[in-house]
Amino acid sequence: MADCLGTQFHVDEKRLHEVLDKAKAFALTKGICMQSEQQGQNGTMLAQYFPLTLFPSVVPRACFQEAVDCMLDFNTLTHKVAHDHNFLENSLKNVLEVDEFTQGLWKIYTQVREEGYSQPFSLGLHRNDFMIDTKNPGHVQIKQVEINTMAAGAASLGSLLVLLHRFTLDIMGKHYDKEEVPDNDAPLGTAWGLLKAWELYGRKQASILFVVCETESNIFDQRHLEFTVFSLNPGVRVLRRTYLDIYNGASLTEDKRLLVDGDEVAVVYLRAGYTPAEYPTHKEWDARLKLERSLAIKCPSIQYHLAGLKKIQQELTLPGSVEQFIKDPTAVKRIRATFVKQYSLDLGPEGNQGLELGKTDPDMYVVKPQREGGGNNLYRNDIREFLEKHTNSKERNAYILMERIFPKAHKNYLVSPGRSFVLSDVTSELGIYGVYIGSATEEKMNMQCGHILRTKLLGTDEGGLCSGHACLDTPFLVNEDQA
Ligand code: ADP
Ligand code: MG
Repeated sequence: MADCLGTQFHVDEKRLHEVLDKAKAFALTKGICMQSEQQGQNGTMLAQYFPLTLFPSVVPRACFQEAVDCMLDFNTLTHKVAHDHNFLENSLKNVLEVDEFTQGLWKIYTQVREEGYSQPFSLGLHRNDFMIDTKNPGHVQIKQVEINTMAAGAASLGSLLVLLHRFTLDIMGKHYDKEEVPDNDAPLGTAWGLLKAWELYGRKQASILFVVCETESNIFDQRHLEFTVFSLNPGVRVLRRTYLDIYNGASLTEDKRLLVDGDEVAVVYLRAGYTPAEYPTHKEWDARLKLERSLAIKCPSIQYHLAGLKKIQQELTLPGSVEQFIKDPTAVKRIRATFVKQYSLDLGPEGNQGLELGKTDPDMYVVKPQREGGGNNLYRNDIREFLEKHTNSKERNAYILMERIFPKAHKNYLVSPGRSFVLSDVTSELGIYGVYIGSATEEKMNMQCGHILRTKLLGTDEGGLCSGHACLDTPFLVNEDQA
């Protein structure tokens, strides 16, 4: 198998551009779109196709399966971590000395915990991200980049892209089994999770609230999910509000029911609120607190949000950590097999090994703060400079050091406004979606649903879709000897 499906076709430039034009039209027709930065007349919204690859990218079937197979384990692990106060507190205590944003989240967590949780259940809509590591040349392996417990996007667009990629392969005359470009039920599973949580809340007239940014480039992904919810149960209303709307228009009843402009809310789905910029004033923080104090089921609840922080993920790689939460040794093995090494950077003896490793060999590591959404990590010489500057400062506590994964390079065409359309050397990151509903004592739902591939130019450090680094992609599954 060639490392690009496109190179197999001996296509001339004219034919390739024809496929490109059709792919762009297909994307616009099916809603594989993002909101354009430009506006139409009178401020109307303009759509453009979402950055994507022209063809699917080859992924070894065994790696894909390994990533799928550990999703339920990671759902359970995240849930248990979120309910272990001592683990959260011990893991985050040094971060909390210096990181204002984590302090804001912790304050809400503490208040809600001390008041007593009104709602025992949390809804998790997670995305576990991996790269296929090539450090061991004889045996490629799936390695975890991070698990996202908040606002994990692209589930809807990723499922639609399967249709587009089957279409581009079809027009190129490429024969394939459907199972090689697998179906992707991510939006269906996500919608199902939202509706299960809604049912659990138990009030027919209550709505599902999407908490969103005022301007959202990824709006089509969110809307597609909203309409999937509607198609599964037209009786459930989905509301969209910003934190400021909630500050101004939402209230809690005496029994902590959340009313938004008079409508009762059963489920709060946060697609915003994971970066400091989304809390410009105390009003947004107050709104988040109001949501967390309410009886509505939150996705994520504040403790799920905390459980997804990079510091927690680093602590989980330490000996004995996973074992504390997961008793089944084969599940522990599945989880641990995906870990690369991670190190504390805390000021003091605990963080000195990480400090030295990062300074000596920065190309082999990534430094991560407690942030989400792309564009926050440090790479290469920036790592050395940062660590030298902060050798004696507590600033280090807010970061962790992670071994760098070197994903297999392959070739594909990236289709993105403003980017030249050429066959490029690229690497991919595979995301697997999971749904979980549970309380401290009870599990109501644990499932895996669908996937996403994101592909970026080889040599690009960051990989986010919405941050503009990566393009939407689909796996084309092959046996390892063909990869
Ligand atoms: P964010 O919350 O900002 O998405 P991530 O941990 O996913 O943080 O890092 C952002 C991007 O940086 C990833 O999508 C990936 O491209 C790259 N990256 C993160 N960790 C590693 C790693 N250990 N090795 C190689 N690349 C990484
Ligand atoms: Mg990420």
